[in-house]
Amino acid sequence: MRSEKLHFALQACEEGGVDFDDVAALLMATDEDGGAIRAGAEEVLLRYCGSKVRFRGLVEFSNVCRCDCFYCGIRAGNREVQRYTLGREEIVEAALWCAEQGYGSVVLQSGERRDEEFIRLTESCVREIKERSRSARLPRGVGITLCVGEQTRETYARFFAAGAHRYLLRIETTSPELFAKIHPPRQSLESRIQCLRDLRETGFQVGTGVMIGLPGQTAADLARDILFFREMDMDMIGMGPFIAHRQTPLGKQIKDDPEGKRRILDLSLRMIAVTRLVLRDVNIAATTALQAMHPLGREMGLRHGANVIMPQATPVRVRRNYQPYEGKPCMDESVTQCRGCLVERIKGLGRELSADDWGDSAHAICRINRKI
Ligand code: SAM
Repeated sequence: MRSEKLHFALQACEEGGVDFDDVAALLMATDEDGGAIRAGAEEVLLRYCGSKVRFRGLVEFSNVCRCDCFYCGIRAGNREVQRYTLGREEIVEAALWCAEQGYGSVVLQSGERRDEEFIRLTESCVREIKERSRSARLPRGVGITLCVGEQTRETYARFFAAGAHRYLLRIETTSPELFAKIHPPRQSLESRIQCLRDLRETGFQVGTGVMIGLPGQTAADLARDILFFREMDMDMIGMGPFIAHRQTPLGKQIKDDPEGKRRILDLSLRMIAVTRLVLRDVNIAATTALQAMHPLGREMGLRHGANVIMPQATPVRVRRNYQPYEGKPCMDESVTQCRGCLVERIKGLGRELSADDWGDSAHAICRINRKI
């Protein structure tokens, strides 16, 4: 039996007038009410975005990072990681393989660097991938999303001019207190928000997201995160559970707690569902971190309103060195195995793969059309 509060919150989503209390009520609803929230999110997904799942081949091209985020396994301060940066040819080949597979889009992700050598490498890879991936199937070339952290406006403009058209930069949390607890003082929430604005003004379709289950994070924090996504008019959302990494300051403080992990997985799925209900037409990723929590985590994400999956396309020889959190799945499977496995999983859900398509969010398409 639905509670009255839940009933009004779902109605507010339907009418597009959701406020903080509604979002908090949806996030905190009981497991019993969780079924109605999940089903509502799936219905909204099908109505606004259709049933297709968009693939983005993920190429983690460097784990060198200038940042020292207290939660991240590839933070600069972790001396136990073997650092790598793939060469231009290897990055381009990995992306072209994705295009041949019909992925339609790739994500180039790395640790954060702002030196000219890195910027030039990224820029030249984007340019070459674009040029070489143009074909009858993909006349505009493969869609390129970048996820290489905070950069200057000028750098964003160079990346956009080279041909990247989407950019992911997670805000991690919108709570100023929590942000300050999980980052060193030289990294700031204000600077991330400014980067999101700069990206949008540069012309990118912009995505952000948060980690779920951070120590000290409350449901109210998460409710404000969702309202922030809406206020910033984001096109894409990528969220996932926080998973401890023992070689980080935050990970060292976390004790193994299977029950706690289950709660974080449930909350992550609830966040996806509620984000879908509130934002409706954005793209939402079923992130790999969900699968680190549960073997069927990504399928669960898709059933809670997600519509994007990022199959591994990073060369196996370096994949183990790119672990922001522990237990990252798909470490040894070849890129072909990763593809086959995901296609089967998607079919099993009665959904289909969107092939040879950039797979921009309905939200971005409407926003761009409004401007024309
Ligand atoms: N440098 C790029 C950036 O800052 O956007 C991308 C690399 S960074 C490793 C990608 C994301 O990994 C982060 O935005 C963060 O949300 C996630 N991440 C890092 N450590 C994590 C952890 N312990 N658990 C879950 N996600 C984590």
